Amino acid sequence: MAPKEPGQSGGFPPMRVRGSVRRLVLVLGDQLDEDAAVLRGLDKARDAVALFEVAEEATHVPSHKQRTALFLAAMRHFALDRHRAGLRVHYVTLDDPDNTHALGRELERAVRRLRPETVVCTQPGEWRVRHALEHAAERAGVPLEIRPDEHFLTDLADFERWMAGRRRPVLEHFYRWQRRRLDLLLNADGGPVGGAWNFDADNRRAFRAAPQPAPPYAPRPDAVTRAVLELVERRFPAHPGRLAGFRWPVTRVDARRALDDFIRHRLPLFGPYQDAMWAGAPFLYHSLLSAPLNLKLLNPRACVAAALAAYESGAAPLNSVEGFVRQVIGWREFIRGIYWHAGPEYGRRNELDQHGRLPEFYWTGETEMVCLRECIGQVLEYGYGHHIQRLMVTGNFALLAGVHPRHISDWYLAMYVDAVDWVTLPNTLGMVMHADGGLVGTKPYAASGRYIQRMSNYCATCRFDPARRTGANACPFTTLYWDFLLRYARWFRGNRRMALIVKNALTIPSAEQRAIQGQAEEFRAQFGVTTGAE
Ligand code: SF4
Repeated sequence: MAPKEPGQSGGFPPMRVRGSVRRLVLVLGDQLDEDAAVLRGLDKARDAVALFEVAEEATHVPSHKQRTALFLAAMRHFALDRHRAGLRVHYVTLDDPDNTHALGRELERAVRRLRPETVVCTQPGEWRVRHALEHAAERAGVPLEIRPDEHFLTDLADFERWMAGRRRPVLEHFYRWQRRRLDLLLNADGGPVGGAWNFDADNRRAFRAAPQPAPPYAPRPDAVTRAVLELVERRFPAHPGRLAGFRWPVTRVDARRALDDFIRHRLPLFGPYQDAMWAGAPFLYHSLLSAPLNLKLLNPRACVAAALAAYESGAAPLNSVEGFVRQVIGWREFIRGIYWHAGPEYGRRNELDQHGRLPEFYWTGETEMVCLRECIGQVLEYGYGHHIQRLMVTGNFALLAGVHPRHISDWYLAMYVDAVDWVTLPNTLGMVMHADGGLVGTKPYAASGRYIQRMSNYCATCRFDPARRTGANACPFTTLYWDFLLRYARWFRGNRRMALIVKNALTIPSAEQRAIQGQAEEFRAQFGVTTGAE
């Protein structure tokens, strides 16, 4: 029997281009859009498409096994489809013995081998990757053309025009600009359908009894995906997360099925319960579409069109449809615009001067705090958490405890299957940690255990009491919340949205203030946050 060539396992044949190439189109793992501008007008005889699996992308932060597997499985399916469509595909697998495992080095190697006249790629999703490709092209002496990513609804130049003259960008203003610009959910007079731009007031319901959402569509891994799962387990055995629950779409067809499944079965109740949390029910009425969207297997226009069609046919109410559309055309596009606007230094910002370590339980889920145990446990199981779990549990705790913003942003980047730097960094460093001084959010989303109690059933089985801020059963969230307000009282006194709550904190008798601060220090020491350590 002939020895296996690299990448031959699981129905995935080796794909190597022989001979010279005119245009080499580099496709990254989060650029799997078959309609991308870089793929249009290719000459099948003279041009080629290149994809590289490199360990660096799984190890620069210790990527969750499912995140790595999702990217690799989707890349392989994308390459196979292009290969079947007659394109020349140059694919370097993770187990190729010559693989240098660095994106820039692989590009240089491909350029040396194929001698392209030019390399073309879509704008990467991360400053680090963009710089690596630019340096590699320079070293290899080949022109690199980076084209705008047309997957997004907002061209970066348009975003800059919207930003011009704004001291503080406000998401709600951007969202209304998008609604008008894209002509979505508007009346004939230009006002919002339903008489309001958003229906958040209707969308904060908690469950009173166990919710019964239909289980989301989960495609069964085929031979190509199974081979990737085996490869990832073999190559990254010590990485966080488990592969057994892998359930993500890895092709455009499956991504479209996942969208249809959400629109049909969960969108109608998505709105009212989008902020609710429930132990043992990780998905609830959420779309689970951020991963296929961020890998570009799914187009945001298709998501919006499907949601609007559901509204127009009466299958889904306005508060659900508007809430979903807002996430797609508002929040997602706003966050991406901010990432590129803020520049590569954004990741170093730490306006609140927080320097603590990330507690070890973020990697294991082993903690007595039920809310964190549930949220981190499901991340380990699926690489998934919905926006309130990310913002108000895992993120909120890091903010209140004083974790260094880069430590928690790197954790988000490593642990969620949908994580790409353009989305993770502004969302974590900006929105969660307020480390950008209010560029993304006008105030930090700090909350005590009372919020978690109101929005979930986690506290019902927890040994801590969310109403107590001191004493043996004091909830760490509640203690750290009041400590946070006291620590940053001067900082936030001038913030219109924080002034009242800060004033409230300062009315606590000084003996109790000292008790809160002492207990907060004990919690920090107990959880290994150890303020002062980078
Ligand atoms: Fe979390 Fe506090 Fe509720 Fe326990 S009591 S689940 S620690 S918020």
